[in-house]
Amino acid sequence: MPTLRDFLEKINIRARTSFDESMALHCSFGIGGPADALVRPLDPESAARLHAAARAEGLPLFVLGGGANILVGDRGIRGIVLDMGELDWVRVSPEEGGGALLAAGAGLGVDELCLEALCRGLGGLEDFAGMPGTVGGSAFMNARCYEREVSQVLSWVESAGPDGARARRPLDPNEWSYKRSPYQGGGARAGDLILGAAFALAPAEPAALAATMRARRADREHKGHYRLPSAGSVFKNDRSFGAPTGKLLDALGFRGRRIGAAAVSDWHANIFVNLGGASAADMRALIEAARDEARSRLGVELESEVLMVGEF
Ligand SMILES: Cc1cc2nc3c(=O)[nH]c(=O)nc-3n(C[C@H](O)[C@H](O)[C@H](O)COP(=O)(O)OP(=O)(O)OC[C@H]3O[C@@H](n4cnc5c(N)ncnc54)[C@H](O)[C@@H]3O)c2cc1C
Repeated sequence: MPTLRDFLEKINIRARTSFDESMALHCSFGIGGPADALVRPLDPESAARLHAAARAEGLPLFVLGGGANILVGDRGIRGIVLDMGELDWVRVSPEEGGGALLAAGAGLGVDELCLEALCRGLGGLEDFAGMPGTVGGSAFMNARCYEREVSQVLSWVESAGPDGARARRPLDPNEWSYKRSPYQGGGARAGDLILGAAFALAPAEPAALAATMRARRADREHKGHYRLPSAGSVFKNDRSFGAPTGKLLDALGFRGRRIGAAAVSDWHANIFVNLGGASAADMRALIEAARDEARSRLGVELESEVLMVGEF
């Protein structure tokens, strides 16, 4: 049976590769065992070729954006982790009426994208300032900040299918909803690789844009988003529960609860943090304890926003 090294040599792509590298270094929780092979393609063709070839060989492959929404198991990830971090290009094309399409590679950080928009006097992205993660990951998750969803500003997404064929598709609003995109399980393009996306932005006064972005970042700091390693909110909010998930977990006394070095933060019951050296097993146990108690004591079914990846 060919080894991963044989496979990666054979497909002849432009990429940086490391073996058995700790995933704790590649996600915001700072938790996780080694990836068999972490491959960072240097161009979109290489990314699409790697994605398609792994599929054809039946090799497991996980696509990594900024790692801001995942909990990686202590035993790590078998097969290939396709790290999109090098695909961070930006392009702008003017539109009629003074607006513009701001297109970016999947690996560009969302905060960098916001700064690009600001520098060009383009409005529409400022609510996302300070959110960790990449363009690709935020499209996959249909990330949402301050009542604004990524899909409300997206114009098109370019992706590669399982055969490596690339397509640029205009946004179909019917395919997107609260924290859901067609790239997630069950969606029309589940398993496809997002290579880039474009955002339809309107002309705006840079000073006003900068003020909103500063306010968003300050609010996140005030809410303790960057105080300790986390993946942001652990559970989705569901209006039918009558209160935000953080309030429900507060009512259950979860604030400050700990298993080992995995803890519910002292300042927000829906933000779980790594106090230093937390294991994935402990973090997952804490997440499951919250879900179980919400079910048994409040009769609500909490849906995890954080994705469990790899072997626990
Ligand atoms: C402090 C903090 C605050 C946060 N605040 C918010 C918030 O306000 N709103 C919000 O919605 N989220 C928030 N998050 C969560 C996170 O920032 C978002 O979900 C973000 O969009 C994840 O992007 P990522 O690139 O890190 O994705 P990752 O965590 O790397 O991946 C998430 C999923 O997307 C898939 N994926 C990533 N890139 C691609 C690609 N190119 N092609 C196909 N699939 C891909 C991965 O395979 C995985 O299934 C927060 C997280 C932190 C740590």
